[in-house]
Amino acid sequence: MEEILNEKHTIIMISDVLEYQFCPRFIYFMHCLDIPQHEEKRFKVLKGREVHEKRRFTNREYVRKKLHCVQKDSEVYLVSKDHHIKGIVDEVLFLEDGTAAPLEYKFAEYKEKIFSTYKYQIILQGLLIKENYGKEVNRGYICYTRSNSLVKELVISPADFNKAIEIVTDILEIIEKGKYPKATRSSNKCIDCCYRNICV
Ligand code: SF4
Repeated sequence: MEEILNEKHTIIMISDVLEYQFCPRFIYFMHCLDIPQHEEKRFKVLKGREVHEKRRFTNREYVRKKLHCVQKDSEVYLVSKDHHIKGIVDEVLFLEDGTAAPLEYKFAEYKEKIFSTYKYQIILQGLLIKENYGKEVNRGYICYTRSNSLVKELVISPADFNKAIEIVTDILEIIEKGKYPKATRSSNKCIDCCYRNICV
């Protein structure tokens, strides 16, 4: 749920961006009409279970050594007023080359590519780290705990940061101006969508 700091300063959660990527109308139904999704499907509920599972399955020291990390902060809640986002970063890694990087643990198997939602989660976490720690961020990591803690690196370019900021701007427009967004382009997502009866 977004937080209104003042009339012009809405802060959204990184999970809102992931909802938007599934379908932009989720943002409208959730934030403008205040209609929640069914509880069992809510991202945050799944996230809570995931956090518990990934703690059980991960050898964090092993991952840290592999990435040449000199220091780390764990489970940090960060807010960016400049970019209107907030979220929890599993680990902020401070690397030997002086840069910092987010590390996100996924209770999942690696399936040949990094999903777009994971990618944007990492990029937005990178924005939070840049602003809060004043460090350069040019990559992030995802640890797939169900693939034997396989760690994948994601290079983050300035264009990636700009794209993520554009998405946040789109979301703010929906929330603050009540703009009704376009439907998802993949209609198969509509089949078991909890909003299908009111979505026109
Ligand atoms: S029914 Fe389809 S377009 Fe409408 S909110 Fe659900 S996924 Fe999006």
